[in-house]
Amino acid sequence: MPDPATAPAPKIRIATASLAGCFGCHMSLLDIDERLFELVKVADFDRSPIDDIKHCGACDIALIEGGVCNADNARVLRELRNHAKILVAVGACAINGGLPAMRNHLDVGALLKQVYLEGDGAAARVPDDPELPLLFDKVYPVNEIVRVDYFIPGCPPSADAIWKILNDLILGRMPRLEHQLLHYD
Ligand code: SF4
Repeated sequence: MPDPATAPAPKIRIATASLAGCFGCHMSLLDIDERLFELVKVADFDRSPIDDIKHCGACDIALIEGGVCNADNARVLRELRNHAKILVAVGACAINGGLPAMRNHLDVGALLKQVYLEGDGAAARVPDDPELPLLFDKVYPVNEIVRVDYFIPGCPPSADAIWKILNDLILGRMPRLEHQLLHYD
């Protein structure tokens, strides 16, 4: 039996998901570059596009990119909220809907009609396959659907900002971004 005093500390688990976003925030996460090697010494990835695990198990930290534009986004978000001790909204789309929320002042029915029935290359009907997730009337920030613990602003937040927050959380510190890491663009 390993000596508890010398046994390695259990790794934390991190889940990530992209909802209605462009994957730019995940690209920023990957931009921590060689620091990924430091990260995987202390953390394993749960559900994430990085490893293609489809469902989230119990985890310590969940990073959410993108807003909530359909029923599948809401299901994924709730799954991560239910399994993660700490949920972090990453980037403008998760925090306030971002670019996808530009459709919020338009009528969804009129949009579908324009795209599928009237626009260039229009199809004969609006797709209604039961496998397609129900489109919501607007794109919702994640904190309008579930409780969010922390927010990292930016479009996308820099790799340094994501790294700082991850480090703070892993080391049990109150997450804090210095002024030079705070960006909203
Ligand atoms: S915040 Fe910006 S980079 Fe991140 S998913 Fe939205 S559009 Fe992409």
